[in-house]
Amino acid sequence: MKQKLKIAIQKSGRLNDDSIRILKECGIGFNDGMNKLKAEAMNFPLEVFFLRDDDIPQYVEDGVADIGIVGENVLLEKNKDVKIVDRLGFGKCRLSIAVPKGRKYKSITELEGQRIATSYPGILSRFLKKQKVNAEIHEISGSVEIAPGIGLADAICDLVSSGSTLFMNGLKETEVVLKSEAVMIANTQLAEWKTVLLEKLLFRINALKRAGNNKYILMNAPDTNLEKIIKLLPGMRSPTVLPLSEEGWSSVHSVVNENEFWEIIEQLKNLGAEGILVIPIEKMIV
Ligand code: ATP
Ligand code: ZN
Repeated sequence: MKQKLKIAIQKSGRLNDDSIRILKECGIGFNDGMNKLKAEAMNFPLEVFFLRDDDIPQYVEDGVADIGIVGENVLLEKNKDVKIVDRLGFGKCRLSIAVPKGRKYKSITELEGQRIATSYPGILSRFLKKQKVNAEIHEISGSVEIAPGIGLADAICDLVSSGSTLFMNGLKETEVVLKSEAVMIANTQLAEWKTVLLEKLLFRINALKRAGNNKYILMNAPDTNLEKIIKLLPGMRSPTVLPLSEEGWSSVHSVVNENEFWEIIEQLKNLGAEGILVIPIEKMIV
């Protein structure tokens, strides 16, 4: 029997689709049918395990799986002895502290002595310690955002991407504790032949990342917010800015990553950008 590298990915949830997609785009075919615990790749010596994301760091530490795809937030919370071998550019989110919208909030010192509900007690307590704030951490496993509304906590610390869940629950984001994305992790003591296979896989992933799912984006932007808008749009070197014939407005052109653009577009609209066009890029030579 041919020896295989074992990879753990999320069974279902936010990272499942992109984890499967990245492997498939690397030219690795496997059957990802529902209710499967594992699948064998057809054209690469790889075995895929479908697991809960929370369990992946432990499985990789123990060597049950050699490598895994998991959110950095989960990895840092579990604090397992594994190494990050690549950042994958999807599953982007932030772990943030939020308080009820109506509450005045100036600085983190206001959290002193307060009750904060979270599913990330480890990361949160390390953050608060660094900020020299003593707060009561209430660990809850789900629906953290309803905790202030039902009187369970004064604040929460939870994952945010667009912020709409916070908004719907009458909360506002006040501190970013961690910026996270999906990462590839590996066991710290991989056998030589496994390392060779991992390198092969990472080589393919990097080729994909470089080609990227980039889009060309152009929009009309009010000059008053131009600086903030440019900050959101790094571009290949930096965005192109051209004046419009109407005073006070500019046309801004840039390149954005597909994984980010919905989030960016939301922020651009909030900054007054109009007539946003998103165009596919056929070839990108850097
Ligand atoms: P599981 O059943 O595997 O335990 P889960 O419910 O813990 O799943 P998901 O909600 O599927 O987890 O989220 C998986 C990961 O997706 C998160 O740990 C995080 O890294 C990432 N993620 C990206 N955006 C968000 C978001 N807005 N909210 C929550 N997680 C997000
Ligand atoms: Zn989970």
